[in-house]
Order: sequence, then structure tokens, then C-alpha cells
Amino acid sequence: MRDLIDHPDQARLITGATALTSSIGDVTLLTDSARWAVSARPGATVADSLALACGVGILGVVQSLGVERFRACGAPTCRGAFIDTTRPGRRRYCMPGLCGNRVNVANHRARKLSQDGHQKVVGEMS
Ligand SMILES: [Zn+2]
Repeated sequence: MRDLIDHPDQARLITGATALTSSIGDVTLLTDSARWAVSARPGATVADSLALACGVGILGVVQSLGVERFRACGAPTCRGAFIDTTRPGRRRYCMPGLCGNRVNVANHRARKLSQDGHQKVVGEMS
């Protein structure tokens, strides 16, 4: 899954995600709610079921949102990756509340340090 997100080439994503769906047992359309239903074959393991959910999810994003939604986290200290399923598609961090907040705090400290340094230099000059 991570390897697919890290290399968001459309053909590669489709091939890899299709492989994840190998435990597929049944695909149907639920006519009462107009939704697709996918179930794992009998005897599928928990890992098979998780792979199936991930594969179907990846294929759905590739089809509906595009490969540009597969991204590395924008925080310099994080090695995370994510699939941006937000409506505007401008998400930058794997965990906005954590990685985004860390970047904001670091930027704030850098600005404050730069301001304090500037004030100190100005103070020494006067
Ligand atoms: Zn992150």
C-alpha cells in the first residue's frame, strides 16, 4: 500500500490495487441504495479483507480524483504519506493536526527568533 502511494503512476496504481483485491468474492450493486457492495471470498483472512478494502479504495480514488491525490507529507520531519480525499484537494500533511501544527509552531519560532535577532542587532547599534 505504502509503495503504491509513494509511486503514484496511474498504471502502477491500478495494477497494484487490483492485486490487493485478489481476495474478492463477490461484487454487486445494492439496488435499494444504488451502492456497490464488495465482499471477500469465503475463507479470506483479515489481511485479505484489509487488502481488499485498500485496493478498492485506491481504485476509487484513481478513478474519481486522480493520481495527484497520492502525496508525501509536507512536513520536513515526517516520512508519512497520504491520499487526499478532501473536496478542494489541497491537503498538505498526513495528519494535519499533528504535522501541520508542528510546521506552524516551527515557522512561528523561526519568525520570533528572526525578529528577536533583528531587535538585538538594532539594539546593539543604537
Ligand atoms: Zn506527516
